Amino acid sequence: MDRHALPVQNRDVETAAGASGYLTIDLAALRRNYQKLSATVAPATAAAVVKANAYGLGARQVCGALHAQGCRHFFVAHLLEAIELRPLLPSDTQIVVLNGLQPGAEISCAEAGIVPVLNSLEQFRRWSLTAGKLGRILPAVLQFDTGMSRLGVPPEERTTLAAELAACGNVEVLFIMSHLACADEADNGQNDDQLAEMRLIAAEFAGLDLCFANSGGIFLGGDYHGVLARPGIALYGGAPTAGRPNPMEPVVRLDVAVIQTRTVPAGTRVGYGGAHVTSSAARLATIAAGYADGLPRSLTDRGAVFYDGVRLPIVGRVSMDSMTVDATALPEGTLSLGSLVEVLGPHQTLEDVAEAAGTISYEILTSLGRRYERRYR
Ligand SMILES: *Cc1c(COP(=O)(O)O)cnc(C)c1O
Repeated sequence: MDRHALPVQNRDVETAAGASGYLTIDLAALRRNYQKLSATVAPATAAAVVKANAYGLGARQVCGALHAQGCRHFFVAHLLEAIELRPLLPSDTQIVVLNGLQPGAEISCAEAGIVPVLNSLEQFRRWSLTAGKLGRILPAVLQFDTGMSRLGVPPEERTTLAAELAACGNVEVLFIMSHLACADEADNGQNDDQLAEMRLIAAEFAGLDLCFANSGGIFLGGDYHGVLARPGIALYGGAPTAGRPNPMEPVVRLDVAVIQTRTVPAGTRVGYGGAHVTSSAARLATIAAGYADGLPRSLTDRGAVFYDGVRLPIVGRVSMDSMTVDATALPEGTLSLGSLVEVLGPHQTLEDVAEAAGTISYEILTSLGRRYERRYR
């Protein structure tokens, strides 16, 4: 056989010369997820949370696909993310900065046509002052702390804020919002507490539209939807509610190449620290992704990859750029240089990897990094 024509052993993934990992992002599935979330919150509208480069999947491609699906509200965390995104999105969209503004950033935010979330009375005053300087009415979203103690106007500032807002005339509040701390836990009583607090705030700021639910919140029912929902993880295929079947379609698939195979006897040390010792003869395969590619070191001796549905446990410590799996369960010669194993896909969900790593799907997704060949379908 012509050695240059050796077949690459993969199933559905088209390979590129030189690449050793393939992150496939299914934009059609993303669009269907958006459609599903929109239908679930109707007559409310669904925004998209695209912070952290759309949870690592590529803000440009994700925003383009969602805009084509009718999404017009996009939330990021940082002003710089918004400034990068602004020229890529048509002017019929709103880009909102969840973390609020640093002092001095107000002018660039206003000039870029970006909507800040105002998280305190101080931020409100600075935004109003900026509107005054520019001689404009500036849009904003007001966030209230309803019990998460992270971001948002604290209860003791509410009365003053309501009075100053009524008097100011140059800040247009598009939405009042808050964020749920336990939305993925359907039975957690904090959800009810936060909803009750949000209702008090809605009465204090009567006539303003409410933006409340994240992914989990959407599945807590209509009481949580307000006028605009802010899903993130569910768009990208993550499970919105812990312990329940995931209603979303997977969006991400990750396949990683085998870069070396070997057969070893019992008693062989594997990886850094010699921390794993084979208990019997084993066929090992080293694959081209490690913790610098978003597969946490905590997967050491815990996680697995799959090949044709067969589970191949990770053995030894996860390295920066590679890890070793035990492929003994596969017939001899199945894996060779260039074979692709499944890290995320039909046999292993984001939640499976997250659980093995002792973290959450969000952290896995946002860590996947830049070293894979990215494919958008
Ligand atoms: C990240 C974030 C979201 C999206 O949350 P998901 O759980 O990913 O749906 C919504 N609102 C705020 C304030 C956020 O920080």
